[in-house]
Amino acid sequence: MPGYDIYEVTNTPYFDATPEKIQFKVSVKNNEFLPLKLCDVCYAVILNGDQWSFQSGNLEKLNEGPILSGFEKEYIIDGPDIHLLSDSRFVYLFLNGVPTSIDNVGNITQKDNFEWYFDCSFVKMESNEQIHYSYEPTPVYTEKCPNCNGTGLDPETIECERCGGKGSFVNRFDGKTYKCPECNGTGIVHDVCKTCNGTGVKSYPKSQMPPATNIITWSGWVVKVNTIPSGATIKSMNSKTGQYDIQSCTTPCKIDWFCTDSISCPIIVEYNGQSVQVLPYTADGKELSSITIDFSSGKPIVKKGQKTN
Ligand SMILES: [Zn+2]
Ligand SMILES: [Zn+2]
Repeated sequence: MPGYDIYEVTNTPYFDATPEKIQFKVSVKNNEFLPLKLCDVCYAVILNGDQWSFQSGNLEKLNEGPILSGFEKEYIIDGPDIHLLSDSRFVYLFLNGVPTSIDNVGNITQKDNFEWYFDCSFVKMESNEQIHYSYEPTPVYTEKCPNCNGTGLDPETIECERCGGKGSFVNRFDGKTYKCPECNGTGIVHDVCKTCNGTGVKSYPKSQMPPATNIITWSGWVVKVNTIPSGATIKSMNSKTGQYDIQSCTTPCKIDWFCTDSISCPIIVEYNGQSVQVLPYTADGKELSSITIDFSSGKPIVKKGQKTN
């Protein structure tokens, strides 16, 4: 493919849990002889002491149609983001006001509460994955030839051989004087530019960097930013401008994080007037694919990541 360079793209496997939220599967069986309606049932999910807000959609699910006598129905209740879990935390699910008995005409005669405690512990999963490489064409970087300034001609002038530098010659047959077509009457000619071989452009394959006086190498990876509670603003370094940009998404959110060896570029996370600067590394310098900051006490506490301010 002329004008294109084939370069290598590395695809490193990335792992994440699905679904992104903790889910509880609650099954309710109707042992009464009349249909059971679950409307007015409330629930709470408590994660390590913090009550996690309800989602109205979940309650609507509980209110969807009655359960017929002798039948069982399963409900999925969404809990907090799975990234908020950590070892030795507990999750508490509380169902409040579930009808457990009805009279002959269907009036509720008894309501009960149901609660479950779950301990969190992490299980390490290992998987052998390969890094895949693909090869993609990209236009070759070109610039104007610096030797001939894009003309394709060697700047050095040489005397026109055809007219001997005079710019004209006398025809032997008719004795008239003609302008020299070789040098267009100037008496001088140029060789083809040796730098660009007469094309006027210099091209650099992608794999070969054009000469530069100052090279900055940015490196980075995808980082998921989690906060307690969610909805914090993220600022991160833009590798194209070298300036901090406010990300359009709020936490939890995945961003492309970039940094260079010469400058410090922590991710700035801001919530409720509080700000913290965090690098996606562990204390002993291992790369992290996510960081977590707890703002629930009013002061930012970095639960996962390296605090830099
Ligand atoms: Zn040239
Ligand atoms: Zn000439």
